[in-house]
Amino acid sequence: MTKAKMLIGGVLVDGPTSFQVVNPANGSVIGTAPECDRQHLDLAVSAAREAFPSWSATPDGERSKLLKAAAGALETNADRLARLLTSEHGKPVADSMMEIHGAAHWLRSIADMTIPSTTNEDSAVRLSQTRHVPIGVVGAISPWNFPFLLSFWKIAPALKAGNTMVLKPSPFTPLAILEAGALLAEILPTGVLNIVTGGDDLGPWLTVHPGIDKVTFTGSTATGKLVMQSAATTLKRLTLELGGNDAAIVLPDVDVDKVAQDIFWASFRNSGQVCVATKRLYVHVDVYEALTAALVRYAKTVKMADGSEQGTQLGPIQNKPQYDRVIDLLEDCRSNGMRFLIGGECDPQAQGYFVPITMIDNPPEGSRIVQEEQFGPILPILKFEDIEDVIARANASEYGLAGAVWSGSPDAAMAVAERLETGTVWVNEAIVMAPGQPFAGHKQSGFGVENGLAGLLEYTVPKTFTVRRLVA
Ligand code: NAD
Repeated sequence: MTKAKMLIGGVLVDGPTSFQVVNPANGSVIGTAPECDRQHLDLAVSAAREAFPSWSATPDGERSKLLKAAAGALETNADRLARLLTSEHGKPVADSMMEIHGAAHWLRSIADMTIPSTTNEDSAVRLSQTRHVPIGVVGAISPWNFPFLLSFWKIAPALKAGNTMVLKPSPFTPLAILEAGALLAEILPTGVLNIVTGGDDLGPWLTVHPGIDKVTFTGSTATGKLVMQSAATTLKRLTLELGGNDAAIVLPDVDVDKVAQDIFWASFRNSGQVCVATKRLYVHVDVYEALTAALVRYAKTVKMADGSEQGTQLGPIQNKPQYDRVIDLLEDCRSNGMRFLIGGECDPQAQGYFVPITMIDNPPEGSRIVQEEQFGPILPILKFEDIEDVIARANASEYGLAGAVWSGSPDAAMAVAERLETGTVWVNEAIVMAPGQPFAGHKQSGFGVENGLAGLLEYTVPKTFTVRRLVA
């Protein structure tokens, strides 16, 4: 049993009460995390505020050195952190290891970035320059699907730019990130990073707190809208990475055998619980039979089990509310007479929140499984004949997170990619992210940017200096 503590003002603390954390692969309680009340949140925000003047004045090179030291600490403890992450999330240990090492990679890469300043005028009369200065205290809310990595997508740029932070991880997956907090407390100055955990009230308290200057939120579009409303009270700066219903389009010239496995993982990685997973697969009629057969063949070789079991490739749905949502969609497919190419039946003996790999054969465009974000291992596969028609169907969504095009011809793929209304488009690959690559949701998938220089600058505000040159 892990009894995790919050990190507030450099000290590891309990809350007034605690809540249980469950392993979704078997339902067992594996630990507890503190339930943060308003007083503890105030303490965390005060600690971040007190740390801000000195952290923001710390030279960039020194801050970067500390972020790299943090990366080293994660790597040294990767094995332990990954096992803890798997026990609270359910994902395979290898995937958890990728999250821990990914977090270290993000810390190092962002530490090496340079925040530019611009010279607007350098004349005999005046020197005008714009620098990007830190905002203040950042309130960060991270989700449960990649709880470790996505927390560091926020920690690394916020701290690099000179801000301090109060982070709230998901109550479903607080343990590994709290453990990382204990490690980072040994490295970072007091109050620079604070981590608080709690239930349904804590997110709203954080987003309206007058001591928070910016909110960075990753989660659903519905909650993102509430966060935006809360942030308006003190005009907090805002970054929102929200939901998606990504379409992938498979053109008729594709080499089915070459791409089938990659298309499978684009949809089913992390049991479909990826914001940028392929959630609607549009396949040209000429290759529909061959590709669906190859996908089903490959799916039968994939092992879904408890992530701590040797050889597991896919774990359970991470939590009960999400499991119920996915089961509801499955029931909707069944009651509307859709044909399952594979899957569809949950094992009644399973102890955890397992939903089998499921593929739906050409469901109606207007059905819920096509129109809604499933965030689980159910993939609707749809036929198309006409390229204009499929582009219109792909774009007919309030979401605009990412998309993919699969083709034997890069030019043909790019011609389609340019017309997809999304912040990222992949050609012949998917779910490829990098610290230097800006990631921004279009439409109702987001507001602002994560990663890349643009993502780093989201943790700054421009400050312009103009200096008149007095003529002697
Ligand atoms: P969610 O919106 O249900 O909850 C996210 C967090 O918000 C939780 O920690 C919750 O405590 C908090 N919260 C709830 N109400 C709040 C309020 N009124 N004010 C402030 N905080 C509040 O999302 P989730 O179920 O954790 O995550 C799944 C969703 O996240 C999916 O839609 C997925 O696509 C999206 N997601 C997006 C990205 C991305 O980068 N675009 C990445 C991962 C996940």
